[in-house]
Amino acid sequence: MNIYLTPALTISIWLTSFALQAAPPVSTGHGGAVATISEPASQAALQILDKGGNAIDAAIAAAATLGVTEPFSCGIGGGGFMLIYSARDQQVISIDHRETAPASVTPRLFLEDNHALPWPDAVPNGIAVGVPGTVLGWQTALERYGTLSLAQLLEPAIQVATQGFNINENFHRINQINEAKFAKFESASQLYLTNGKAHQIGSHFSNPDLANTYQLLADRGARAFYEGELADDIVAAVNTPPVKKGITVLAGDMSHTDLKNYEVRLRQPIHSTYRGYDVYGMPAPSSGGIAIAQALNMLETFDLANMERAQVEHLYLQASNLAFADRNAYVADPEYTDIPVQGLLSKEYAKARAQLMTGSALQQSSAGDPFRYQQDPSWPLRPSHPLGQESLHTTHLAVSDREGNVVAYTFTIEDWGGSGIVVPGRGFLLNNELTDFDFSSPHPNVAEAFKRPRSSMSPTIVLKDQQPAFTIGSPGGSTIITTVLQTMVNHIDLGMSFSEAVNAPRMSQRNGDTTLVEKRSDFTDGEQAKALAANGHTFVETEQIGAANGIIFNQDGTVTAVSESKRHGVGTALVQQQ
Ligand code: GLU
Repeated sequence: MNIYLTPALTISIWLTSFALQAAPPVSTGHGGAVATISEPASQAALQILDKGGNAIDAAIAAAATLGVTEPFSCGIGGGGFMLIYSARDQQVISIDHRETAPASVTPRLFLEDNHALPWPDAVPNGIAVGVPGTVLGWQTALERYGTLSLAQLLEPAIQVATQGFNINENFHRINQINEAKFAKFESASQLYLTNGKAHQIGSHFSNPDLANTYQLLADRGARAFYEGELADDIVAAVNTPPVKKGITVLAGDMSHTDLKNYEVRLRQPIHSTYRGYDVYGMPAPSSGGIAIAQALNMLETFDLANMERAQVEHLYLQASNLAFADRNAYVADPEYTDIPVQGLLSKEYAKARAQLMTGSALQQSSAGDPFRYQQDPSWPLRPSHPLGQESLHTTHLAVSDREGNVVAYTFTIEDWGGSGIVVPGRGFLLNNELTDFDFSSPHPNVAEAFKRPRSSMSPTIVLKDQQPAFTIGSPGGSTIITTVLQTMVNHIDLGMSFSEAVNAPRMSQRNGDTTLVEKRSDFTDGEQAKALAANGHTFVETEQIGAANGIIFNQDGTVTAVSESKRHGVGTALVQQQ
């Protein structure tokens, strides 16, 4: 039974219930489903689904709320990639709303005296800020595939920003990591520091400036972000960063025209097959879809189902190593560089590359030659140096609805805390996405005017027999690719349930001499790690890799939403009950 409630009443009931409920990281049911890393964001999506909104509507409501509760990872000051399975069109579509370089940018953006700036020095500056795409991305998704208005979808986020919430350990931890960066800027210090320190766990935090900014977008529409007073404030914050007295940072050069002319791109997703599944991933400028497809193509040449787990994982690490060699060499903004996509995705090329996987652990392997496996074998610009530094943040959410639509959405402001610049009086952080460019050339991913930096974000939707089978994605910079890949191998090849696959210990091999692994007693001290070490793998330990969210469509007609049960706090996975 549907009972009509006024928006205010609905929200107060929702806020009460969200205070009382635990956040389940796994839920199964028959209705629409959502998984995010934040309970208020998952509740916002559920509320929209219950109101009759579809998965696209609900994803935007969740994303706007994540901008309040996870402000150091994502928000309207950044950009992202949304993958949508449209049940109506039986098609997967990708919406690229990645940040772009302003017109003033040249390949020398991050050079000082002809030397590349060290990555950390490049981040807290106006020069690192790309033209944000998130708001136009939401608007584009809504116009084409949504059913509700932007104003309706921003309502839950406005409530959370206005009423606030108690700061949890995770918020505090990331806030603390950013103390030095935020201390450079007046507006960031005011919003995110108390006497120069991160807000304490348990203290109440609200963001009325962000509530007002969302209200402005609700009242005037997405264009209000790109033209008018808000645009004036964004341009001013980039070009004259609001630094504290005595602090100097590098000023950016973004114009009103850069903002006004920002464009979203609808792109053909990367499509590949793996053991009877159809895998859809994000195309360039993300490297995620191509690298995952390539690694899966290599793994498909082995009979993983009949191998020991350690051998499967050995091959997973080898495939990832080789896929990253090509990713680092060839992938950048497709409007600026000729990426040999056809060759990279060719099953024949994968077979040839897979021959390199059978020995002991690969070290830093070289890029292959995919050009021989495509119709146009001419070679574009080749890289001259290895991978630069990338950071490990962002957020990913998954939503599905009863009509069968699915959304996989990863969005970001790049580093935790982005550039550190809060737009004064507007309550949101600006990205540092341009540090995802390579700092020195020649390289396909060097900074250029209007270009989009290469990304690793990998929203993924997998079909079987033309129907959604599961969707998965994660934050984590370049470890996003390995998190998505490993979760798929865990589920498809090692036979783990979807939640086991998400929660299993993660390893990330990105064409390096060492493999990053999570420090977990169920992995690092066990037989599995020993077997991998015997195969020549050397590990570097870290606390956590990624924070995945996904949904699996079960054969009995139910859906299971899965979030993290330990990483990044505890995520919240919900399924509609009525
Ligand atoms: N900037 C990164 C990318 O586009 C995402 C940030 C992160 O996950 O750390 O791949």
